[in-house]
Amino acid sequence: MSDDYRQLLDATIQHLEGLKSRGVRHIAVTPETMRALALAAPKFQISNFTSPIPTAAPSLKTEPAISMPPKKTIVPTPVSQIPDATPQTLSTSSSAEKAGAFTALRERALACVKCPHLAASRTTVVFGVGNIDAQLMFVGEAPGADEDEQGEPFVGRAGQLLTKIILATGLSRADVYIANILKCRPDTPGQSAGNRPPTPEERATCIPYLQEQIDLIQPKAIVALGATAVDGLLGKTLGITKLRGNWQTYRGIPLMPTYHPAYLLRNQAMSEKRKVWEDILKVMEKLEMPISAKQRNFFLPA
Ligand code: URA
Repeated sequence: MSDDYRQLLDATIQHLEGLKSRGVRHIAVTPETMRALALAAPKFQISNFTSPIPTAAPSLKTEPAISMPPKKTIVPTPVSQIPDATPQTLSTSSSAEKAGAFTALRERALACVKCPHLAASRTTVVFGVGNIDAQLMFVGEAPGADEDEQGEPFVGRAGQLLTKIILATGLSRADVYIANILKCRPDTPGQSAGNRPPTPEERATCIPYLQEQIDLIQPKAIVALGATAVDGLLGKTLGITKLRGNWQTYRGIPLMPTYHPAYLLRNQAMSEKRKVWEDILKVMEKLEMPISAKQRNFFLPA
């Protein structure tokens, strides 16, 4: 066992003992934490984009909702079954350092009160979810009510559609990383429902967390979902309609702007689904993912 791993383990045990002494009996363990622990153990195989490619055209309809993985009760996976997508160049200790840096970043974000109005109104800080060694990252706008409640990005209706899009590439949510420009749900004082886009001040305050996430993950491509994500990452832009489908660069990383899944929920035209799918095909090509003839033709008229 490496010193890094032992240190991480000691710190984890100490933290858990502290929680136990304060009466905490259950904790949620995220997939990335499980993966981080697994990374410290040697001799894991690289698994790249190995998920099966769907043979049937994905339904990007909104109903029925796809079944989502269970929330909050995560049954620990035996370490030997946790897929490892660590790039070959990362040594075990640098993987552990990365996992440690990610955990520290998460802890800072979870305790953030830089926007006091959001800290007061939120249920949870929605930090991000997925594989911290992902090659592909999706960035959205801000958590909605479902995300605020569950502490995970893109779990509501738009999120279920995003999940279908991810599955249509042959990947799963666990293969990619998903985060938002804003980590707290924008408050809507006096309203019991509805969403609002983040203000420029909120975006500016929160973006350093996302930047750090991206710098640590170092994905090979980022998909920016909708105008807020594109503007938030690239600054003032031409608008999503003009930009979508055209590669941009964010901190040296190829960035593909596309429509937000919520737009596809509002506009169910096949032509709009095809546009998003064409953007995703470009991303798959960039990542040298296998693309079947069926996948190439999704959402084209028969
Ligand atoms: N819309 C977003 O932009 N992000 C979410 O997490 C959910 C909906």
